[in-house]
Amino acid sequence: MLALHGTGVSDGISVGKAFVLQRELPEVPEYTVARHQVDGEIARLAQAVEAARAQLLAIREHIPASAPREVASFLDAHLLILDDPMISQAPVDTIRRRRLNAEWALKIQRESLGAMFEKMEDPYLRNKKTDVVQVVDRILRNLMLRAHEDHERMSAGEIVVANDLTPADAVMLKHHRVRAFVTNLGGPISHTAILARSLGIPAIVSVHSATHYIRHGEELIVDGKRGVVIVGPDRRIVAEYRRLKTGIARLRRELDRLRTRLAVTRDGRRIRLFANIELPADVRAATHAGAEGIGLYRTEFLYMNRDGQPSEEEQFRAYVKVAKALTGKPVTIRTLDLGADKQVDGGRAAAAIAVNPALGLRAVRLCLHDTALFRPQLRAILRASAYGQVRLMIPMLSAQDELFRVLELIEETKRDLKRERVRFNPRIPIGGMIEVPAAAIAADMFAPYLDFFSIGTNDLIQYTLAIDRVDDAVNYLYDPLHPAVLRLIALTIKAGKAARIPVAMCGEMAGDPRYTRLLVGLGLSEFSMHPATLLAVKRIVRESSSKRLAQTANRILKRRDTRAVHALVDELNR
Ligand code: PEP
Ligand code: MG
Repeated sequence: MLALHGTGVSDGISVGKAFVLQRELPEVPEYTVARHQVDGEIARLAQAVEAARAQLLAIREHIPASAPREVASFLDAHLLILDDPMISQAPVDTIRRRRLNAEWALKIQRESLGAMFEKMEDPYLRNKKTDVVQVVDRILRNLMLRAHEDHERMSAGEIVVANDLTPADAVMLKHHRVRAFVTNLGGPISHTAILARSLGIPAIVSVHSATHYIRHGEELIVDGKRGVVIVGPDRRIVAEYRRLKTGIARLRRELDRLRTRLAVTRDGRRIRLFANIELPADVRAATHAGAEGIGLYRTEFLYMNRDGQPSEEEQFRAYVKVAKALTGKPVTIRTLDLGADKQVDGGRAAAAIAVNPALGLRAVRLCLHDTALFRPQLRAILRASAYGQVRLMIPMLSAQDELFRVLELIEETKRDLKRERVRFNPRIPIGGMIEVPAAAIAADMFAPYLDFFSIGTNDLIQYTLAIDRVDDAVNYLYDPLHPAVLRLIALTIKAGKAARIPVAMCGEMAGDPRYTRLLVGLGLSEFSMHPATLLAVKRIVRESSSKRLAQTANRILKRRDTRAVHALVDELNR
């Protein structure tokens, strides 16, 4: 029995078998074959290609109906690559001409294709290299007789152990009903962690060498709260954890009773609790948790695992689906936040290779730089506003001129739609995310032009504390209670109050019950979070007295020493 420690990013306990997702291939063998073995080598290669095709078709067939359309397009792209002569024919010619083993011939082809794609001017085509390499690696894995430890082999109830997962992977895994995640890398506010939380399954990141110590099929216990993975537990420990799990299930049932209750403090302050979603399919979890609407719809997930970008029509359909599913409730659609940690496999934005992408052309900056990407989304959101209480939210605002430019584009789009006699809500509320320290410090410079603010603590913490949200080496510095962060939150709430606009929070801090009392005390009145924690937050709100919390929050804000801040917050939670 072995215990591995990491950062728990999603609470809960899971007991199950490990599914080790291996992406790295073993060393590719290189040798020459005798003349009489050449045909045999070509046949081996053909079998491996056919096995790859069968695997891709099998995954395609088993995509659940609820999966986003992009999952199928991603697989179609791989099937097309498999059929291309550069994959199916060129290595055959190499085997014949140079009498090499199939793996080596394929490896040579992978390298030459890689170099060819690297040289391409068009960033979109250059980006296709990833797909080609993935297809070649799939064939190589088949050739080297490795188990196809890939998504398609995964079954419900397993615990995924991986070096790292991209947000695009997580979308795929979401449909395999896996029981928990454990990764070698990653941080608490990486998008993968956020997705794990949105699934409501335990997850631990930054467990160094997890893939080294954990073997495929081994029994694991994942304790997401404590950030501990127990490998090969004995019967006594399994029984102990099962008891704990039953306790958690009981608590969940109790929380379920709060679904239809209002989030009101004991002294009558009304707090509104919204849900964050990534895909239209997430609406079900949001309504199930009794969310009062969607406080953050991360639209960039529509751009992942696919070729090219979604059309205006496709975006419109996705937004209308959400708007209609939530009749009468607000749906806050955030405009594209691509770039930095939110890269896509097929989107054109992924091509921007910056030295420091988090400080580069991401989110609203990218949209203003490439209005051909932005305009169809604005049209889609405005058109969807005719079908429900749609609100538009702009991420990553830092300069006032950026906001002015976005507002101009929205006005232009409205004029176009009017001319075309297309329906939209002319008074669609427009909000801004406060997630860059400059925007928090000078929130009053944005407030007069916006209908609401939403604090994005994931980025606000990243930029304030200068810690890359995906770099696990600096995870230990991640602290939502850092006085600098708390002061920026307080400043934003104050600016919102002065301008009489509502201030929400949609970063991970809003969904962490450890901070609910403090945030209510600081005057926050709208929280948006992954649906899995909504009821736990609601319970705390209903048990709190807003006036008493405000006094303590004020004391906390004045403290200059971090330990005292932590101690006071612990006291609030006791
Ligand atoms: C945030 O930064 O807090 C946020 C909600 O946006 P995202 O995590 O999508 O960057
Ligand atoms: Mg953000």
